[in-house]
Amino acid sequence: MDRRAFVVGALAAGAAAWLVPGVLRPRLAAFASGDMPAGGEGAGSAHPEWPMWPDKVEPIELTEDRWRELLPPDRFGVLRKEDTEAAGSSPLNHEHREGTYVCAGCGLALFTSDMKYDSGTGWPSFFTAVEKHVGTKRDFKIILPRTEYHCARCGGHQGHRFTDGPEPTGQRWCNNGLALRFIPKEGAG
Ligand SMILES: [Zn+2]
Repeated sequence: MDRRAFVVGALAAGAAAWLVPGVLRPRLAAFASGDMPAGGEGAGSAHPEWPMWPDKVEPIELTEDRWRELLPPDRFGVLRKEDTEAAGSSPLNHEHREGTYVCAGCGLALFTSDMKYDSGTGWPSFFTAVEKHVGTKRDFKIILPRTEYHCARCGGHQGHRFTDGPEPTGQRWCNNGLALRFIPKEGAG
């Protein structure tokens, strides 16, 4: 083997070690069991393996008890129990900066500021969502069928999607502010 082939081979072996799931799993397990920093506002961003923009969304499952530890009670209620926050209560209603709205449970990007509009309902509203980062299901909690939607990675409840939104989609994604965190674009005011 010539020297160059040896160097390339050694580099490839090093890269492969990073891709082996076994290298990452212990850290995930540590987070799930409470050995990593967590809680409150930092719950999503604290986890190095839960990027805002993953190449592919890999579902994560934690126990209810673990979510209860990670999230403050009001965020836990919305994300894990499908509570609805009071209309007009979220500071995100008045958020107009450029940036990204991520799941407050796991930090996955769900909306960008370009997708937001003022629906006048008292909840942060969007006319579309980041493709493949949101899952939906029908719910009948108010008897009439509604489309519930949630984070595609952690399953955290976000809100409901209606069909009385603006162009170009005609959709209104009515989101609980407690289920989101806003990450301002760097350099944006
Ligand atoms: Zn999530």
